[in-house]
Amino acid sequence: MKYVLSNCILFDGTEGEENLREHVDIFVNEGVIEAIADHGEAVPGYEVVECTGKYAIPGLINLHVHLFGSGKPSKTLSGGGSAQTLIKITKTALGAKILDSMVKSGAQTQLASGVTTVRAVGDFHWSDVRLRDRINAGHVVGPRLLVSGPAITVPGGHGDGTFAVTATDEQGLRALVREHKKHGVDFIKICVTGGVMDAKVKGEPGELKMNLEQTAVVCDEAHKLGFYVASHTESTEGVLVALEGGVDTVEHGAPATAEISALYQNTGSADICTISPAIPLCKLDPSVTLMNEFTQFNANVVLEGIVQGARGALDAGTPVGLGTDSSCPFVTQYDMWREVCYFAKYVGVSPAFAIHTATLLNARIAGIAEDTGSIEAGKCADIALYDANPLENLAALRTPSMVVARGRRLDRPSPKRVSAVDAELDKLL
Ligand SMILES: [Zn+2]
Repeated sequence: MKYVLSNCILFDGTEGEENLREHVDIFVNEGVIEAIADHGEAVPGYEVVECTGKYAIPGLINLHVHLFGSGKPSKTLSGGGSAQTLIKITKTALGAKILDSMVKSGAQTQLASGVTTVRAVGDFHWSDVRLRDRINAGHVVGPRLLVSGPAITVPGGHGDGTFAVTATDEQGLRALVREHKKHGVDFIKICVTGGVMDAKVKGEPGELKMNLEQTAVVCDEAHKLGFYVASHTESTEGVLVALEGGVDTVEHGAPATAEISALYQNTGSADICTISPAIPLCKLDPSVTLMNEFTQFNANVVLEGIVQGARGALDAGTPVGLGTDSSCPFVTQYDMWREVCYFAKYVGVSPAFAIHTATLLNARIAGIAEDTGSIEAGKCADIALYDANPLENLAALRTPSMVVARGRRLDRPSPKRVSAVDAELDKLL
């Protein structure tokens, strides 16, 4: 397992400045980056992998993924009849097998699109935990997975009836966290507010579902057990409760008040920007998205909130991470590149900073920056290579020519695409 990625053009991801180094050899030994050197003669014992003219960047990290879905438009996640059927099926032995294969396909599609680390923030019946263990044991090829198991919320909260489990009182909520520990999760995901598709009032998505006490109890139990807590949060009121309750990452986010900015400063918590699920609902015709005008209106409120939340956080020096919310309608498992493009376009950052965010800054937020997130000697060989320069045009990230995940190489990876979804999303680029 010793080879050299020979004669690359390197963007090592360590900073958000446009800083390319040409004619670079990256030596990989047993899955780890052993050395980075100026291009030179072949070194005995190392297979030469010809990369002349290819751009090497750190493998992307997607901080917000549900692995089970394809991104085809559907109302499943919003509950209702189809969700109930899905849940019933996944509880049978055959259903568990189908579920496991869907989740595996989701993770492998992420990998084929250049994502070498996925943070799974809510999947069914511990399918994410099982897959992580199979990948880590070498039985399945896949990205590094950080998994939460099912999300935790209160009855009627976001994901109740689908990807979340619920309790109301302190005892019940603490017991859920301990059960997650028993199943071997990496962190805890909660849903403090509702989502776009749960909203009952026009103009008020992200209705508060978990109160401060409930949020604080889950965070307390999780922190005691050594977990950090990620929270689905889509309103300013929700962000306040999440941060006061002790949440470590605010997923999606909302416009911040001075009080919220101060809380971020004091806690060191991060804002996780997810533009991908909101954009299609806002910009595509409701006849295409299968949503009504009411949902479209609320999606616009959420998109504004996500973008303003991220901008405000960057201005205040709060850590900002990126994720796609794959499995939502029109959010496929291979579109992290679109989130990077949206982040640059809507939040207003440079391509270099957008890639830096999707790599090293995401790694720091996930607590794995010792292992991954940049191309540096001693870190895992998590690398994506492209034929065109992504710093010139982020759309180059759409088609990696090679993906390296903990040293394992995938040549010319080709994620299974949903052409109908691509055709619609490409109109929005
Ligand atoms: Zn989500």
